[in-house]
Amino acid sequence: SNTSATGTTTAKASSSAANGSGTTPSSVFHRTLKTGLPMAIRGEGNYLYTASGAKILDASGGAAVVSIGHAVPEVVEAVTAQLGTLPYVSSALFGMQPAEDLASQMCNDAGFGRAIFLTGGSEAVETAIKLCRQYHVENGRPERTKFIAREISYHGNTLGALALGRHDRRRKNFMPLLSTEFHAVSPCNAYRFKNAGDSDDAYVARLAAELDAKITELGADTVAAFFMEPIVGAAAGCVPFVPGYIRAMKAVCRKHGVLFCCDEIMCGLGRSGKLHAWQWDADPNSDGDDARPDVQTLGKGLCGGYAPLSAVLVAPAVVDVFARGTGAFVNGYTFQSSGMGTAAGLAVYNYIKKHGLVEQCRLRGQLLVRLLEESVLPLPHVGSVRGNGLFIGIELVQDKETKQPYPYADKVADKIGDAVLERGAAVYYGSGCADGWEGDHIMLCPPYTITEDEIVFLVEQVKAGIQEVLSE
Ligand code: PLP
Repeated sequence: SNTSATGTTTAKASSSAANGSGTTPSSVFHRTLKTGLPMAIRGEGNYLYTASGAKILDASGGAAVVSIGHAVPEVVEAVTAQLGTLPYVSSALFGMQPAEDLASQMCNDAGFGRAIFLTGGSEAVETAIKLCRQYHVENGRPERTKFIAREISYHGNTLGALALGRHDRRRKNFMPLLSTEFHAVSPCNAYRFKNAGDSDDAYVARLAAELDAKITELGADTVAAFFMEPIVGAAAGCVPFVPGYIRAMKAVCRKHGVLFCCDEIMCGLGRSGKLHAWQWDADPNSDGDDARPDVQTLGKGLCGGYAPLSAVLVAPAVVDVFARGTGAFVNGYTFQSSGMGTAAGLAVYNYIKKHGLVEQCRLRGQLLVRLLEESVLPLPHVGSVRGNGLFIGIELVQDKETKQPYPYADKVADKIGDAVLERGAAVYYGSGCADGWEGDHIMLCPPYTITEDEIVFLVEQVKAGIQEVLSE
C-alpha cells in the first residue's frame, strides 16, 4: 500500500488486486473481452473507490471527462431536480430551460451564435460534419463535399468521425465503410515534426502552405471544411499547437471559403487553462475572431461525467446562412438537448465559473508541468512533457537523441499506466496510431480541483511507475 497525498493509505488498485482473482466474469462486451477490470463503486471529489477497498486519485479524469470532481452535491442536486421535474421531452416538440440557459451562456461567453446539444463526442463530430456540408448546400455551393483533417488525429468512433480522423489502428478494420471524401494534411507537432533549426513561424508557415496546397489540389471549390484538434489528445498525448498555427490555418480556410472547425471534445471547456483551447492563439487585443472556429465541438469536460452531453457551437455567420436558407438543419436525435444532460452541463458550467476553475486549472497545470520537468523529464526514456492546463502528456522513447519510439507490441504506456494505478493514481495512456509512427504516451488529465499536494503525489507515482517499467 502507498501513502496518498491526503495522508491516507491507498490499497493496491490493479485489476487483480482490486477483484481478488482478477477473473471476475462479465457479460458486458467491453472494448476488450478480458475480464477483471477493477470494479469502481464510488467517487468523491478527486478520488475513486473500488470494490476491493482501493482509493485511487483520478488523475485521468476518466478520459479527460471529470472536470470538477466526482459527486459534487450542487451538480447532483441540479440533475436530480431536473429528473424529478421533467426527465424528457422531444426537442422537436418542446424547449427546455436548462438547454436554453446553457446555450445562451456558452454563446455569449465566446462569441458563438447557437449551440446544439448531443450526447457524446462522436455524435457531436458527426453533427459538425453534417452541419458544414449543409451550410454549403444552403449557401448555393453544393459541390463542396470534401473534408480535410490531419494525420495522427482522432475525432471519434462513428463512421463519419472515424473517416475524418487518422487513427489508423482504430480505422483499419472499418476502412471499406469509410467515405473517401476525407483527406489529411500533416499534424502540428513540434517535438516530432518541426525541422531542427526552424523557428515556430517558419514551421507554421510550412503547415499553412501545405493546407493551402492541399485545398488547391483537391479543388478549392470542392472543399467543405478543415477540422483540427487544438491540443491533440488520444491520438498523440496532449500535443499543443505552435503559437500562430490556429490563426494561420483559419486564414487559409478563409481565403478559400472553407469552414474552419475545432474539435475540442477532449481539450475544451477549461481543461487547457482557457475556456476554449483556440483562445490560447487569439490576439489578446482582438475579440478572438482571428482564431475562433466557425464550428466547434465540445464533450467530456462539458458535463464532467454527470450525464452524457456534448455540444456543437456554431458561429453567427454560419447560423445566418441557415436563417437565409431553409431555416432548418436536417439532423435530429432522440436525445438531443436532453433535459438531464443540459441540466448537468449547466450546473457544471456554473460551478466552473463560480469557483474560478479555468484559471485554477491553468495554475495547477503550471505546477504539474514544473514538477514533471524537474523530476520526470530527466529520466532516460522520457522524450517530452507537454500540454496546457491540466491536459499534460509525457512521451516515452527508447532513445532521447533519436526519439526512437518503442514498438507498439511492447505496450510500454499500458504497463506504466498499470504500475501507476498500483500506486494509487489512475492515468490515461495510449500509443502511436499511424503506420510507421508509434509513440507511447501517458496523459495526465485530473479534475481542475486537484490540490497542490495531490499533484506532488501524482508526480512521485508517475516517476516511480516509469522507473519501474523502463529500468530494465
Ligand atoms: N474527438 C476527440 C478529439 C476525442 O478525443 C474524442 C474521444 O476521445 C472524440 C472526438 C469522440 O468522443 P466520444 O468518445 O465521446 O464519442
